[in-house]
Amino acid sequence: MNAQLVENYPGFPEGISGTELGEFMRRQATKYGLETLNTGVSGVRAGDPYEVSTSEGNIQAKSIIIAAGSEYRKLDVDGEERLAGRGVSYCATCDGFFFRDREVAVVGGGDTAITDALELAQHCRKVYIIHRRDQLRATKALQEKAFSHPKIEVVWDSVVDEIVGDKMLEGLRLRNVKTGQSSDLEVDGIFVAVGIKPNSQTFSQLVTLDEAGFIVTDEMMRTSAPGIFAAGDVRHNSFRQVITAAGDGAAAAMSAFKYVKE
Ligand code: NAP
Repeated sequence: MNAQLVENYPGFPEGISGTELGEFMRRQATKYGLETLNTGVSGVRAGDPYEVSTSEGNIQAKSIIIAAGSEYRKLDVDGEERLAGRGVSYCATCDGFFFRDREVAVVGGGDTAITDALELAQHCRKVYIIHRRDQLRATKALQEKAFSHPKIEVVWDSVVDEIVGDKMLEGLRLRNVKTGQSSDLEVDGIFVAVGIKPNSQTFSQLVTLDEAGFIVTDEMMRTSAPGIFAAGDVRHNSFRQVITAAGDGAAAAMSAFKYVKE
């Protein structure tokens, strides 16, 4: 839903907006009898059938597919929410081209941050990597590429205290965690790459999660609880792409159908 342009979903050679793609999927499923209820799920009670609690009342279900997705971890600093989409981004692949020939910062030291920095360096004038420690977490090969790139500069031991700007991002207020000293960095964009968190909290008592909180499944999308399946970004080892999530969804639906029939 948040992707402005999905360019790698098969069947749409010119790309399609996330909102439009979602709406097409909903219309297609509705045509075949899908009923939808737009409401939050606050819990699932184990039993046969399961009982799903929502603000619209409880629903009984023999089988459940959890496709609750994940969200980008935020920095939780002043200006982040206000300037989201106005210079603050969580996806270099989606938004990088808006920053052609501009100066940007990437926050984080993992594989995502370094991959993002390398991708952004292809079109941006300058890319700063802001990392809270004096060592990156990313794989050595990625680190070496970043260190030898003429447009990439790492700002070590630093955190973002504030994202500055009224209607558009104007710069960042940084703090060196070793010296305590603050400084300003003028950039046109910031890419936050400090990890993602799965929306699995509601189901943590019901199914097995991995150490990062993703739902563990087998290749049939079965979780540890009979009749409960998981699909997409909420699932352990997901590629975090719409097409792989759709594939998971199809597998989970077939598994659920088979489970209910048996
Ligand atoms: P990650 O490995 O969890 O790294 C998150 C980074 O953000 C860490 O460097 C962490 O710092 C930093 N961080 C976390 N919270 C922060 C905060 N509040 N303020 C500032 N910095 C913060 O996440 P990821 O990079 O998204 O990677 C997730 C998984 O996907 C990993 O297993 C990774 O290998 C995989 N991945 C692979 C590729 C690839 O091309 N092979 C690409 C992308 C992702 P610390 O280092 O100090 O903890």
